[in-house]
Amino acid sequence: MLRYQSAVAPGLHIAFTSVEQGNLALHVPDDRDAVLLRRRGLEQDLGLGEASFTYMNQVHSADVVVVDEPADSVLTATCDALVSSSGATPLAVMVADCLPVVFAAATATGRLSAVTHAGRRGLLDGILSNTVRGLRSAGATEIEAWIGPAICASCYEVPQSMAEESEVLRPGIGCTTRWSSPGLDLPGAARQELVSLGVQVTESGICTLEDESYFSYRRDPETGRLAGLIWAEPDCPTDS
Ligand SMILES: [Zn+2]
Repeated sequence: MLRYQSAVAPGLHIAFTSVEQGNLALHVPDDRDAVLLRRRGLEQDLGLGEASFTYMNQVHSADVVVVDEPADSVLTATCDALVSSSGATPLAVMVADCLPVVFAAATATGRLSAVTHAGRRGLLDGILSNTVRGLRSAGATEIEAWIGPAICASCYEVPQSMAEESEVLRPGIGCTTRWSSPGLDLPGAARQELVSLGVQVTESGICTLEDESYFSYRRDPETGRLAGLIWAEPDCPTDS
């Protein structure tokens, strides 16, 4: 599991799970009770106490939902980004090759958090900009983002027509893969977009297709999902 801490919003913790923590998704072939048990075990290991991560029903949209109260981790919102306007609601995004992007932000009086599922469609449709807009609307003054394990530019092979269509919408996103075929650089396009919006970006640099410690849909269409997570340290003063 990769772990990070926010510099601009102290007390916010960020993590990206790996195969070691197991599949965390309910929408893939797996035993439902085993997944719920795994999610609970992860929450306990991370010191969340009674709190649960809020997961999304991700649909490759550009829709952002603001959450204020901890929600039932099973009854989830249909969207591709969640913003916690208090920074207190533990948030989760699930992926296997798409980009998991986790945000922490400072406001004049507190902190905010967000998670985003950015696949090709959502990225081209502006899910990252919409998330940043959501954070700024909620008062963000400084924003940090972490791009977790995802398929890299050298591995994300797409049909020529898709590469061309994507390049029109997002100049610079097209690339050539290790097999000399048309590809898309999703992590690069995400970094470029976030930096242009004034966000400080940290990248894991891990490719899910190449590193078998992470789930990859391209390697196995029936694979599980890893999670990008953000949560607040329990009972921790924000100035510690
Ligand atoms: Zn790769």
